[in-house]
Amino acid sequence: MPLPNLHTIEGVLARFHDDLYAAETAHDRQAVRDRYLGRKNSILAEWMERLAAAAPAEKRHLGQLTNALKRELEARWATFTETQQATAVPADAVDVTLPGRAVRLGHRHPLTVVRDRMDEIFARMGFTFVEGPEVEDEWHCFDALNMPAEHPARDMQDTLYLSAPFPSFEPGGRQRTMLRTHTSSIQIRYMQSHTPPIRIVAPGRVYRRDDLDLTHTPMFTQMEGLVIGEGISLADLKGTLLAFARAMFGEKSRLRFRPSFFPYTEPSAEVDISCWSCDGAGCSMCKKTGWIEILGCGMVHPAVFEAVGYDSERYTGFAWGIGLERVAILRYQVDDIRLFFENDLRFLEQFPY
Ligand SMILES: [Zn+2]
Repeated sequence: MPLPNLHTIEGVLARFHDDLYAAETAHDRQAVRDRYLGRKNSILAEWMERLAAAAPAEKRHLGQLTNALKRELEARWATFTETQQATAVPADAVDVTLPGRAVRLGHRHPLTVVRDRMDEIFARMGFTFVEGPEVEDEWHCFDALNMPAEHPARDMQDTLYLSAPFPSFEPGGRQRTMLRTHTSSIQIRYMQSHTPPIRIVAPGRVYRRDDLDLTHTPMFTQMEGLVIGEGISLADLKGTLLAFARAMFGEKSRLRFRPSFFPYTEPSAEVDISCWSCDGAGCSMCKKTGWIEILGCGMVHPAVFEAVGYDSERYTGFAWGIGLERVAILRYQVDDIRLFFENDLRFLEQFPY
């Protein structure tokens, strides 16, 4: 090996400098320092060993070079660490140039999306929104709606009765309290305190004694509508529902009325809407029929008017009831109604509206 000289030292110092500035972490920088200045297996250590083994004639010269190298490496390391400390960012510093952290926004539940859309449509048509108690008495929920105690229609709407009597219910006599089976009870309450003309929608939760399965839950959401005035006809009912269907499901929607029975309306109808997926041609969503059952409706039965003290000769009106879950199931192609109530984000996050 040729004898080291000053030129050799400058080469070592230049590489030391480059290695230090290329090191990315404090750990890396310490490793560079140890590789050059460490007690063992370092470049300086090699020089020391060579010095120890050198011939006496070379010792003086080699000793001066080794000392010079040691001094320079230490000086450069000291300068380097001082610079590092001076430019280091304090631990508690705030970097105002960093991009902000985005706040993760939630979104509406799919049933709320449907409800909001329906609210918007009926509000535009001039309807007033009315709410009422979920705990009802039998009179508001059944009797006033032409469903006396022995009426078989009560079986279809069998509900959950409460043991505690509600103190202020009217009229006297039958006072069993229950969870309302439909929001028609709100309509009765509204009619008792208002005179026609009336144009309201009554949204809310309703309860029935159904077992939990793919298409039934003991609790679901209804939006019922009621219009009462002089000269209100079936044509007004059809026009109102058609306008709603077109706003909700698309401009090309058509309706089909099938005769049905409800105690509180006469005549009564089930309403089908033309399938918005195939436009009536027949597909899997409409079970190849081209139509989808969407709601029930009819002209208000005179017995209902009599129950709330309206003149059934003077006034006529119509009412309908629509299930929000049914609309959501159809719109979003959901095959299990229970998913809406399980609060599983994996399901709910598929509807980011
Ligand atoms: Zn279809």
